[in-house]
Parts: sequence; C-alpha cells; structure tokens
Amino acid sequence: MELKDKNILVVGLARTGVAVVRFLVQHGARVTVTDMKGEAELASCVSALAGLPVTYELGRHEEPSFRTADLIVVSPGVPMDIPPLKVARQAKRRIISEIELAAAFISAPLVGITGTNGKTTTTTLIGEILRNSGFATFVGGNIGTPLIELAASGEPVDRAVVELSSFQLEGIEQFRPKVSVLLNITEDHLDRYASYQEYIDAKGRLFMNQTAEDYAVLTMDDPLVAAFAERISARTVPTSQQRELPYGVFCTTDEMVCRLGGGELRIPLAECRLKGSHNRENMMAAVAATLLLGATDEGVRRTLAEFRGLPHRMELVRELNGIGWYEDSKATNVGSVVKSLESFPGNITLIAGGKDKGGDYAPLAGLVEERVSHLILIGEAAERIDGALGRLTNTYRAGTLAEAVALAHELTRPGGTVLFSPACSSFDMFRDYEDRARQFVALVRGLEGGASC
Ligand code: ADP
Repeated sequence: MELKDKNILVVGLARTGVAVVRFLVQHGARVTVTDMKGEAELASCVSALAGLPVTYELGRHEEPSFRTADLIVVSPGVPMDIPPLKVARQAKRRIISEIELAAAFISAPLVGITGTNGKTTTTTLIGEILRNSGFATFVGGNIGTPLIELAASGEPVDRAVVELSSFQLEGIEQFRPKVSVLLNITEDHLDRYASYQEYIDAKGRLFMNQTAEDYAVLTMDDPLVAAFAERISARTVPTSQQRELPYGVFCTTDEMVCRLGGGELRIPLAECRLKGSHNRENMMAAVAATLLLGATDEGVRRTLAEFRGLPHRMELVRELNGIGWYEDSKATNVGSVVKSLESFPGNITLIAGGKDKGGDYAPLAGLVEERVSHLILIGEAAERIDGALGRLTNTYRAGTLAEAVALAHELTRPGGTVLFSPACSSFDMFRDYEDRARQFVALVRGLEGGASC
C-alpha cells in the first residue's frame, strides 16, 4: 500500500487514531485527523502527536476533507455509516479500517477472531497457547493494543492474534487471516445495524479474502455459523459439543478431542480451568486455531490448565449466607446472558437492564421461566425487558443498582445465586462495563453478614 505523499484522513483520535497518525506520518503521508470530540477532551491524544506535521479538524467533521482524501482510515469506535463517510463513499473515496491498513504491513501469520460473544476470552487464550508453545506472539486488535501498533513498531513476531468487531470487518478490503475463527452469532448492536442480516454479513467478511490455503474454525453447533461452511473458500475446521467429528475438535462429556490430521490429542475437561459450555466453545476454537499454527500439545495442555478467564465474565464476587453473588457485567447482549443462565440449575435472582440495543429479549424466556426466581430490572431497558419477560417470573423494578442489590439480598434464598448479567450496555447509568462491575462489586462487598470469599 503506497502512502507517501498521499492525503490521508484519519477519523477518530483515541489510542488507535494516535497510532494510525504516527504510522502514516512515518510513511510520508500528509495526514489530517478529525474527531467529533473537541480539543480539550482530546488533549492527551493531541499532545501525544506534538511536533508531527498533522492537520487537526477536532470538534467537527468537515465534508470537503472527506470528499477529497486519497484514503480515509477509520478508527474502530467510529460507525461506518456516519453521514460524512456516506459523502466520501458517494465521492468514490477509498475507506478502510485501521485493521486493513495495519495488516498490509504485517507478514506474520495472523489469526482473526470474531463472534458475538467470547472474542476476548478466545483471543487471549490463543495468545497464551502460542506463547506457551514458544512463539513470539502479538495479541490485540479490538482489545488492548491496536494492530497498527505492531505494524508501526516493526517488531518481528512469529504470530499475530487479532480480535475483530463487526465494525472493523466492515472496513476491510484485502485483509486475509491465515486462520479465522467465528465463535457464534446472536443478536447484538441492532442500534447500529439496519437489520440482523447486515450484522451477520459483516461478520462473514472475515472469510472473504481467504483461500483454500487458509483455515476457518467454525462452531458447528451454531446454525448461523455452520451455514458459512458451505459458502467460504477456506478449509473449514469444525468444532462441536454435540457430536463426534472425524476431523476437527469436539467435546465428549469428560474430554476435549482434537483431530486435525496426524494423531489425536485428548484433554480431560477436569484439567481445564475454564468452566461452562460457552467456555468449552471458546477453548475448542482456541485449541483448533493454535494447533493449526504449530502450537505444541504441551503448550495447549498447560494453558488450559492455568488460564483462569478474564475479569467481569461470570466472576464469583462472594458467597454470603449460602448465596453465590456473580458479576457478569461484560454480558452486554442476550446471547451471553443465555450462556450465563445455563450455568446454574435454578433459584437464580437475575439483575438485568441498562442501555437498550434494540434486540429481542425473547430468547431468554425459556430459561427465565425455568431458572429465574426473581428478575430485578434497572436502567433504560427495564420497560422493554419487563414487557418481554416480566410475566414469566417475579419481576421488580429498581431505580439504582444499589436498590437492586439490596432487593436481591432480601429476596434470594440460601442455595440460590444472584447473577448480575445485564444483557445491555452500560452507558445509561455508568461510564462503561468496568465501572458498572466495580460499583456492583463494592455494593456486594458492603452487604452485611457471613464471611466473604
Ligand atoms: P467479547 O469479547 O466477544 O465481548 P468476552 O470473552 O469478553 O467476549 O465475553 C463477553 C460475555 O459473553 C461474558 O459475559 C461471557 O461470560 C460471555 N461469553 C464468553 N464466551 C461466550 C460464548 N462462547 N458464548 C456466549 N457467551 C460467551
């Protein structure tokens, strides 16, 4: 990709934008950066670029810049359908995501991971297995370090592992992972997509440049994921918890079995630290992807035995008077709450709600009816969730998270579980899902009685 003397517009100046600007300047481009946030809010980003020849259009987007740029690079947080990008598209400008730019300058074999849920867990696990197998490995993308920072550093790595959101995938042209992983697809982000099909199509872009020399690891138990097997050029590597596979990775009741050509690797599930069917899905995908890229059996075994999972995904906060309190603030859509509810047999008090994303709550109905004794709703989405699920169990509204926790404390019987698994994003009442998690944990730790764990 030729960048020298090109007029390049960078849209979005957070951590990724800063790295993109630096990279482009390094390569001799003439760079303009634009962001709807103003200079005061972006002060730290602007000072990180001090001394570089950059034109700033902050606090606004200027249409002429979008209409005339040779190339537009969009940061991951910026939707691809904002009006100035539509103008650029009409003017036939080339628009790419940061991932597309970065990947063009990276030669290491790349693993790209997407799906509605489990991306961060699986990406992290893949990185750990590869490192424990002796490979110098970059892990980043939608989590942590933007891929462009790897491209800019020029650091030699053996493998690159990249978490990809559907937004990032919308802005790829030639991005081609050696191994792609599609974990699952359930409704999400309907506030940002015109239809569910559009969201599914965005996920499918992961495979569009792969050829028969590449691999696609697919969760065959998910019909929307399995449907891609027929349509893609990459070699499909199936995973399943429902059936034995002649080729691929599958789970029996007590073992994970890997059959990827040349022998069979069997790992007792009792030796894996991650629990729950959603985590078996993640582990199978991670093991398949890494064995395809040369991971050792020992690297796989060791990592699965040690990896404890990430914070805010079904974490036990404490046990109090025989009740387990779980924080699952990262459950920002219905699909992840389904998996969380499946992890407990019943007597659940579910605290849910937050900023509504326009999806359907009905997929929770069966589990709520069967396993949820009390449903406590908070936030903007309370009304819609109540409409979909309220009649199925004892349902309450709480004005604040503190009220919800107090109510859960009062209602839940010993032997039960309190699960804070919101099914919504956090931005109505909290800064982000981590802030929401911290507040919940503080409230739960503050409850009287019993010993905390
Ligand atoms: P992502 O990066 O896709 O948001 P995370 O690994 O951060 O995924 O997990 C997000 C939420 O989804 C957590 O609540 C977690 O417990 C749940 N989860 C993790 N893996 C899966 C999976 N394979 N299927 C459904 N839910 C999952």
